[in-house]
Parts: sequence; C-alpha cells; structure tokens
Amino acid sequence: MQVLLLEQDDGKTRAAVTDVDRTALPAGNVTVDVAWSGINYKDALAITGKGKIIRHFPMVPGIDFAGTVHHSEDPRFHAGQSVLLTGWGVGENHWGGLAEQARVNGDWLLPIPEGLDGRKAMIIGTAGLTAMLCVMALEDGGLTPAGGEILVTGASGGVGSTAIALLSALGYHVTAVSGRESTHAYLRQLGARAILPRSAFTGDTRPLEKQRWAGAIDTVGDQVLASVLAQMCYFGVVAACGLAGGITLPTTVMPFILRNVRLQGVDSVVAPAEKRIEAWKRLAKILPPAFYQQASQEVPLSGTIEAAHRLLNNGGTGHTLVKVQ
Ligand code: NDP
Repeated sequence: MQVLLLEQDDGKTRAAVTDVDRTALPAGNVTVDVAWSGINYKDALAITGKGKIIRHFPMVPGIDFAGTVHHSEDPRFHAGQSVLLTGWGVGENHWGGLAEQARVNGDWLLPIPEGLDGRKAMIIGTAGLTAMLCVMALEDGGLTPAGGEILVTGASGGVGSTAIALLSALGYHVTAVSGRESTHAYLRQLGARAILPRSAFTGDTRPLEKQRWAGAIDTVGDQVLASVLAQMCYFGVVAACGLAGGITLPTTVMPFILRNVRLQGVDSVVAPAEKRIEAWKRLAKILPPAFYQQASQEVPLSGTIEAAHRLLNNGGTGHTLVKVQ
C-alpha cells in the first residue's frame, strides 16, 4: 500500500511517499481503507520535522482520516461502514491517516454522522472539530449571539476558518484577525463582518485595554492572546486552542480579577467520546453547504509534503484535504 513515510537520519526527518507491505501496519482491532485525510498544523510540523511531534520512526503521519472499515474485530464496527478518526495520538505515536490503510483501536473511531460523508468530514477534520469545541466552550461560558462581538485569531487557518463559518451561521457578529490582506475576501465570504490586522495585536499591550469582545477563539497564543485578554469585556470568555504564534502567554491577572474574564483551554486529541459525538453532530448541522467549497484545498498523497511546507509558510487558506485513494 502507498503511505507517506517519515524516517529519521542524523536527527533529520525524511519524508517520502512509498510502498510498504500491509503486514507492517501496527496492532489494532479495526482495519480501515482510508479514503480521505488532511494536513493539520501538527501534521505539517511532523512532516517537515520542524516540530518534535514524532518520537519513534518510521512513522506514518496523519492525525485524522475518514474511510471504510475493511475488517473489524470490534463488535461496534462492521466491514463497509463509514468511519472517521481524529486525535488519540494517531499519526504521532501510532501509524496515521496518510496511508491507503490504517489499523487502529476501535475506541478511537466514530461512525460518520448523518449529513456528512468521508470527504466532508475531512474538509472539517481535526481543525474543524477543534473549532466546534471552541464554540461549545464559549457557549459553556454563557455566550449568546446577543452578548456582543466575537474575535477569531489565526482567522484564515483551518481552525479559524471553521470557527468563523460556525459562529456566523449561529448568528454571532464575528471579527477576524489575520496577518494577510490577501485573505480578506475569503474571510468575508466565510461570514466575518470585520477584519483586523494581526499587527494590531502583536505590539505592547497594557494589562487592561478598552473593552471590545464578548468572546474570542484564539489559535495563535503568545502576545496575540495577551492582547486579546486585555480587550475582553466584563464576563468575556476566551477559548484558547493553538500556538501558531508561540507557546508563551505574556499576560497579567488583571483581566481575570477585574473583568471576570474566563480563559478556557480546548483540547481535541483526547476529548471524551460523548463530546466528540455532540461536536460532529453539530458540525454536520450548522456548516452551510458553501463552506465545503470555500474552506478547503485538495491534494493527492503525493502532494502532502509540499502542502505541509505551504501550511507552515502561512501560504494557504482553510484546511488541506488529502485524497488518499
Ligand atoms: P493553520 O496553519 O491552518 O492556521 C494557523 C493560522 O494562524 C494561519 O493561517 C495564520 O492566519 C496564523 N498564523 C500563522 N503563523 C502565525 C504567526 N507566526 N503568528 C501569528 N499568527 C500566525 O493551523 P490550524 O488552523 O490547523 O491550527 C491552528 C493552531 O491550533 C495550531 O497551533 C494548532 O497546533 C492548534 N490546534 C490545536 C488543537 C487542539 O486540540 N488544541 C487541534 C488543532 C489545531 P492568518 O494568516 O489569517 O493570520
């Protein structure tokens, strides 16, 4: 079968699309014929070797996939069933979705929800699931569309694009933060009502600035998140899921203790099954049909290495869908 294989030589990651024997697949009780996968931020770090995502080589990357069950020893799944997988360390420490076949633990799989097929599920992918979990975190914090404006940072990436489409479809007034002027038309198509330059969030910030946002979804971290926190309204809620700008958070306690701001972390990798099922159901229901044309670029397995470099060079918009077979 064809796979994207990562190997390591002298500490350097080498990526190549190659044939491997199916007997090389790792242990697991369900084998899936993979039809679709994607390139997420973490995949790009793994494929290019720019992030320490993978500890054991050789590894097949791909933190998510959708396909058809080939063989199952798990009674919850049967041959021919359409399934999807995101997270659980697949593509990091267990061979992942950038391969014609994957063998995994049945606990990690979900049936594809009504209203989606494998292609749509992977246009959404881990990035879109994370966006939905962020929206749910804002709702848990008490936000409603009448509560005020919502800010989305890293807006033209996979998570940011889906967050804008979801929030806009739910009736929120969304302001996008983007480092690229070239993406403004795209962000407006997705539903952003206003767009602010990233540079407005990367300079020095006072501990408290003018109150502007009822909610925020941050995919960037670092100074951008610190600036967002300083601009939150009283009772504001921030869902933080990403580190595209860095892992630090140079902030103060002031937004929390004087404005009652809530900072909610969001993880999709080991999120419990009930939460994922709810999130996928809502994604299938809320995202408008146009989203699937607007927010994805499709590449074959042979195009994944180039796509990974493009993503890290901030050269694409939305989510990269991989047609595996
Ligand atoms: P993408 O690369 O698709 O998008 C990231 C966006 O961030 C870019 O499009 C760009 O948007 C902006 N950006 C890029 N570089 C920088 C920079 N140096 N400083 C500030 N902004 C930057 O990634 P994803 O959307 O897939 O993922 C976003 C983040 O969320 C990543 O850090 C990823 O690891 C994380 N993530 C976390 C998950 C979780 O479970 N917690 C799951 C999935 C992703 P623009 O050009 O519009 O400014």
